[in-house]
Order: sequence, then structure tokens, then C-alpha cells
Amino acid sequence: MNISETSLIPLANPRVRKFCFVLMITVYLGCTYLIPVLNSSVTTKQLLFLEIRTTSLCGILNELEILIMICYVIFYGKLGLITSSVLGCINLIISMVHILRMKELNSIAGIIMTLIAFMVNIVIYSYSIKLAKQNAKLQEYYENINEKQESLHKLAYFDYLTDLPNRRNIVETISSLCRSQKVSTFKLIVIDIKDFKRINDVAGHQKGDSFLKQLVSSWSSIQDKNDILGRIDGAEFALIIPREINNEDLYDYINEFRLCITNKMPLLGSLPWTENASSSNPGLIISANAGIVSYPEHGDSAEEILQFADTALAVSKEEGPNTIRYFNQSMYDTLLNRTMMESALSCAIDNNECFLVFQPQYEADTKRLRGFETLVRWKNKELGQVPPSVFIPIAEDTGFILTLGEWILKSALEQFQHLFQLYPTNALLSVNLSVLQILHPNFLSMLNRVLFETRFDPTRLELEITESIFISSKEEVVSILNEIKNLGIQIALDDFGTSYSSLSYIKDLPFDIIKMDKSFVDTITEDRKKAQLVDTILAIAKQLGYKVVAEGVETPDQLNYLQERDCDYIQGYLWGKPMNIEDVIPLLCQFSEQIS
Ligand code: C2E
Ligand code: CA
Ligand code: CA
Repeated sequence: MNISETSLIPLANPRVRKFCFVLMITVYLGCTYLIPVLNSSVTTKQLLFLEIRTTSLCGILNELEILIMICYVIFYGKLGLITSSVLGCINLIISMVHILRMKELNSIAGIIMTLIAFMVNIVIYSYSIKLAKQNAKLQEYYENINEKQESLHKLAYFDYLTDLPNRRNIVETISSLCRSQKVSTFKLIVIDIKDFKRINDVAGHQKGDSFLKQLVSSWSSIQDKNDILGRIDGAEFALIIPREINNEDLYDYINEFRLCITNKMPLLGSLPWTENASSSNPGLIISANAGIVSYPEHGDSAEEILQFADTALAVSKEEGPNTIRYFNQSMYDTLLNRTMMESALSCAIDNNECFLVFQPQYEADTKRLRGFETLVRWKNKELGQVPPSVFIPIAEDTGFILTLGEWILKSALEQFQHLFQLYPTNALLSVNLSVLQILHPNFLSMLNRVLFETRFDPTRLELEITESIFISSKEEVVSILNEIKNLGIQIALDDFGTSYSSLSYIKDLPFDIIKMDKSFVDTITEDRKKAQLVDTILAIAKQLGYKVVAEGVETPDQLNYLQERDCDYIQGYLWGKPMNIEDVIPLLCQFSEQIS
């Protein structure tokens, strides 16, 4: 606690402080000298045009001394108390000497006043100390509040992990840029690291967090000092570029950010699904997508700009990894259409808008019926007939595929259970499954329940799954497939050859049959080189011991080619388009007669 802190009214200006200090000493000592002199002879003095008795003058000087003593404590605290005490003592000594020398008590009133001044000073000083202590406490309290306010502000406006501005901060920055007179144009880029949540789940949050921190620190070295980078979601970043930049430089600039992401990949260590990585199965590839919006062309509010950047990002994600997309209005319309579709699809079953068709499969050499593939259709009042290639991915994204998939399985089994009893054949019923259905924890119990409820013979059922099942671990896939096989159900690998799954991976899985994708069948009638692909697929399948269904056979030439190469089964418009259940009956009828 310093001296000025203990004074009731500290004098801020050091010059004034010094001047007053010296002035008061001088005045005090002057009074101390004059009082005994005036006291020695009681006369009347002329003060300006008034007459005054010397005793009254002594009284005034005495009170002036008291005032000075009190002022010292008020303005100078501890220093003032010491000074006034010293001055008071000098005054007392002089008064005592005067009393003793003159043998009269004229100065006694002054002595009493000085003693009272001592006491008053002590009271004032103790009070000022108390006040100073309270002040110090208040000061500490305010500092605390300030610190808390700062940390609250940090929490509200900055990301706890990377210290970058958070979504709220970015929104406010965009808003202020939109209002600013100084900035006529800026760009917002939203960068998203693909599947980061999954990486986090598998590599662990600690590794995921340190990956993000180091990524942000390496970004800071390429970031232009005028630009603002923020983290607006888990693995979603916003980059504001409040300066002129041409498109070519912009794409190069964003690409630099993207490359940093790939370079930081080793930080994640070896992840379970990278262990079996090879040239044909590259395992984890970390990638990013970006959406760009320009102000004021695309929007003039923070809300619009962020929304459209998200739209451009969503489109870039649909177009594949590592794509960067500039926003345009048609993107927004497409997304709006998709949102409408999502909401219409969620009520499709309740509104009886879904129905099933069945496409026959035949033995390639004898044209005997092998079975039917179940294909779902959706007809909506406003949207018309929406192809499954459009609505199945939407159902997968929204999770509706679980409800839809169960409805498809149950409806198909119900309809065919009845028909198989009426028309005994060896025909199979095939049902497509989405990978999300199979990997769902309740899948096997759902399958058992549907089999039980429909009383459908599992040995007459085939489930078609695609290579996308390999996003899960091999052990998990094998265990699910074995459970399915234990029920007597057959398993077909659909769309074979369209993904990157390694053959070594596929060869140990318990499939019964492979479905060669239509895109390969289409190549047969093109040049000889492309047709060799079909030969290769058939040869591989034979070697691994799988039967093959060729999908999408449309022409006699394609059929001949496949028959010549011993392809086992044919499915395609040439021998049968997807048909309603009523049209299935004559076919079953025909083949049940052949059996009997
Ligand atoms: P997919 O499983 O490969 O089904 C075969 C698709 O090829 C069907 O299209 C079928 O109508 C079509 N197709 C068959 N033969 C020919 C042909 O000779 N020429 C031509 N141009 N096309 C032929 P669709 O029904 O439009 O289904 C498309 C995709 O939608 C299916 O491919 C499947 O991935 C998905 N899908 C359809 N129904 C279901 C379903 O019930 N569940 C699930 N999870 N997916 C389904
Ligand atoms: Ca299929
Ligand atoms: Ca297929």
C-alpha cells in the first residue's frame, strides 16, 4: 500500500502536490512564530480598514494551524500524518517554552487545539487506511470481473480447441463486412474435412484434436494476413477473403489449404481400415471439399452468404472428394428440390406411394427361370415417378432407408410367400439391401422377425449387397454374412466391379453369386478391348468359384457373347423388364408346369 493510497484525497499532479506541501509548512511555521509574538502584547491592530485585537488574531492563526494539520492527513496520508505530527510537536514545544518563560497561560488554548488536531488526524488516518483497504478489495474484485468478462467473451467468440474465431464470430464478421463502406467485395470459403467424425471415432478424439490443432497452425503459414479463418463446426472451417482475388489464384489458394490436410494425415497414425491398404484398396484417404460464395453477387446478408456457401459445399461433396465449387442459383434450386423430396419421401410409405416390381433372371443357356429381383418404385403426386437411383441415396442420407428397407423386404416376402405356395417352382426371390441396413445393429433381429411374420422359406430368399459394405471391418462383415447364411439365405454381390474392393478381400467372403454390373455388359458391343473386361470378370469369378448373373442384357449380341463365355445367368430388358406382381403370375405358372 503506498502513501497516496492511504490519503483520503490524493493530489494527482506531483507539482501541485509538492507546492502545497511546502506552502503549508511555510504557513504553519509562520503562524507558529507569530502566535507567541502577538500573544506577548495584547493590543489592537489595524487589518485593512478593520481593527482587530491581537488575541483574536492569535485564535485565527491557531485555527489555520489546525486546518493545515488536518489538510496534511487528508491530502498526504501517512506522510501528512508524520509531517503534521512533527509540526504539532514543534508548536507544542514553542507554546510550552512561552508559558514557562512568560509565566502566563495565554497559549493554553492553542496547546489544547493542537492536541485535538492530533486526535482528529489519527481518526482521519485510521479511517483512510480502512477506506484504502476496501478500495484495494474493490479493485481486485473489478479485475476479477474484467478477467471473467474476457474469458466469457473468448468462450462466446472463439473456438476452445484451435483459438480460431467460432461460427458466431464469423457470422458477425460477415455481417459487419456486409455493412462496411470500406469493403466492396469479399469471398467466403467453407472447407470441410470429409468423414472427420468417423476418423475421430476410430483414431480417438485426442489424435483427432491434435490433428486439427496442427492443421490450423500449418494453415496460418499460408494464410494471407488480411484473411480471416474460423472454425464453424467440428471439421468445417470458414475462410473470409476481404480483398480482390481472381478465380485462378483463388482455386490455387484453396488448394494449398487442402494439401495441408493431406500432409497432416500421418498424425492420425495407422487406423484399423488402413492396415490392409494396397494399391487396389487404398484404405483411408483423407480429403476435403470446399464451397465458395462471393459478396455481393450471391447474397447480401451473413445468413444468405453462409447458407449458399453450405449449398456449394454440399454440391462439391456430391461431386466427390477434393472438389471445390463456386455457388450458383441452380445449385440452390436443386438443393431445395432435394429438401422437398426428403420430406415427401419420409411420408411415402404412409401415403401408399411405394410399390414393388420384379425383374426375372434366367439361366443363360436354357432360359429357365432362376428367380426375380425386387425393385422398389415411388410415385408421388407432385414429383411424379422418382427413379430409385435418385430416392434411394436420399433415403440413405436421411436414415429413412431403414424403414423403407424393412417395408420392401416384408412386402416382397408377403407377396411371394403366397405365390410360391400357389405355383411351386425353384425360383428365388432377390431383395436389394442398403449397406446401412446390414450394418445396423438390429438388422438380424429385423430379418428374423420378417421371416417369422411372413413364414417365407429362407432358402428361397437371396439378399443383394454391394461392395460398399467394405467400409466396415472385414471381421464384422464376415460375421453378419455368416449369420445370414446360417438362416439358409443366399447372398449376391451386386454391381460387381464398380468399386475398388480388392479381390483378395472378396475371395474369403461367403457370397453365392456375383452380379456383373450393366456398365460391363454395355461394353461387349463396343470395341474388343473393352469387351475383354467382361472376359476378365467372368474368368476371375470362375476362379474364385462364384456363379455370375449378367445385368442389363438388352441385345441378342450381348446375349450371344455372354452365352459363348459360359456366363451363368441373364437379367435384362431382352428377356424381361421389371414387372408388376400380376405379370409375375403367368411366368411362375409356366415354370411350375415345367417342374411338374
Ligand atoms: P440394381 O440393384 O443394379 O438394379 C438393377 C437396375 O437395372 C434396375 O434399375 C433395373 O430396372 C435396371 N435394369 C435391369 N435390366 C436393365 C436393362 O436391360 N437395361 C437397362 N437400361 N436397365 C436395366 P432401377 O430399378 O432403376 O434401380 C436402380 C438401382 O436402385 C438399383 O440398382 C438399386 O441399386 C437401387 N434399388 C432399386 N430397388 C431397390 C430396393 O428395393 N432396395 C434398395 N436398397 N435399392 C434398390
Ligand atoms: Ca440389385
Ligand atoms: Ca446391380
